[in-house]
Amino acid sequence: MRNLDLIEKWKNTTQNNYGVPSLALVKGKGLVVTDADGKTYLDFLGGIATNILGHAHPAIVKAVSKQVTQLSHVSNFYAHPNALALAEKLISMTGEESARVFFAQSGAEANEAALKLSRRTGRTHIVAAQGAFHGRTMGALSLTGQPSKREPFLPLLKGIKHVPFSDIAAMRRAINKKTAMVILEPIMGEAGVIVPAPDYLAEVRTLCDASGALLVIDAVQTGMGRTGDWFGYEYSGITPDVITLAKGLGGGLPLGAMIAIGEAASLFKAGDHGSTFGGNPVTTAAGLATIAVIEKQNLMHKAAKHFDFLSTELSLIPSVKQVRGAGLLVGIELNSDNANAVAQKMLEAGVLVNAANPTTIRIAPALIVTPAQLKKFVTIFRKVLSHDN
Ligand SMILES: *Cc1c(COP(=O)(O)O)cnc(C)c1O
Repeated sequence: MRNLDLIEKWKNTTQNNYGVPSLALVKGKGLVVTDADGKTYLDFLGGIATNILGHAHPAIVKAVSKQVTQLSHVSNFYAHPNALALAEKLISMTGEESARVFFAQSGAEANEAALKLSRRTGRTHIVAAQGAFHGRTMGALSLTGQPSKREPFLPLLKGIKHVPFSDIAAMRRAINKKTAMVILEPIMGEAGVIVPAPDYLAEVRTLCDASGALLVIDAVQTGMGRTGDWFGYEYSGITPDVITLAKGLGGGLPLGAMIAIGEAASLFKAGDHGSTFGGNPVTTAAGLATIAVIEKQNLMHKAAKHFDFLSTELSLIPSVKQVRGAGLLVGIELNSDNANAVAQKMLEAGVLVNAANPTTIRIAPALIVTPAQLKKFVTIFRKVLSHDN
């Protein structure tokens, strides 16, 4: 079946919540994906910051294939070595021995778990950021600070205040002794790759310490080495109480985690929360393989260097106003609000990107991207923008 047939089938079989895609992808290898008509694309979106090692990475293929032939599911009535090895690994990545892990499948579920955990402080008030994205389930949507996504589904959870991002005075006014948790993305991804002031997270940490509120870092998009460190907040020197992960964690398989640190790690009591698939042997095998490759190939360090190249090169393009982000999570702010059209032209030119908002192109390529692929991206982007203006 070709692109058009599959798109027609999409229209006739699925609900209209996503709108209609412009093509169907059927194959991938590294950063190259192939559509149903046989055309290839350079994938600079990576399944929205998810295919952190690209497509069909041999280490993931091997780990998953082996596990699925042995045991694909055990439930949480039983322990499984993969989930425990991954939990151990994640704990060591936080650098905090007290950290403890809860596994989920997605970012929304990881944040739901954090939300429920915060209720166990005995407090119910929450502070989140305007523009933030934390997921689409009712709890996660209550945390999400985007009116267009929230308003059709009101009423949402009560007691959640959204303050301007990177505005420490607004945060100070919003936090008090009733605040159960503050949740922040280290860099707001969906909002358009918005980077806070360098001392923002440290200042929020101080406010949380003073009021006894948990500081939850939503590293669903920034995590797993994408921004040059494991979770995206390490540059700030803080230790959060909770870290949520998904997207890159499973290297393309559905895997999420909520990691609690210190006293937060013992807030849940037996029976408080659960997930049938959480810590699944196959997805955790993928997570272990993903982390092993990132470490072995020093991909975090490389991601940080790639950002320097991209920001230097992209800033030279006349219709680019600003390049934001860290590592391989990059927002390219354009001078005009034609990001959707630019994303479509990039697709026609054989490169997948997306418009995070009307003026921002977001790229989140796999960490295995080569310098040659980065150069190719810049060349095509420059060409598309020059035709555009
Ligand atoms: C994508 C995303 C989520 C939601 O993840 P899902 O897996 O789609 O539920 C939550 N937080 C952030 C920061 C994200 O980028």
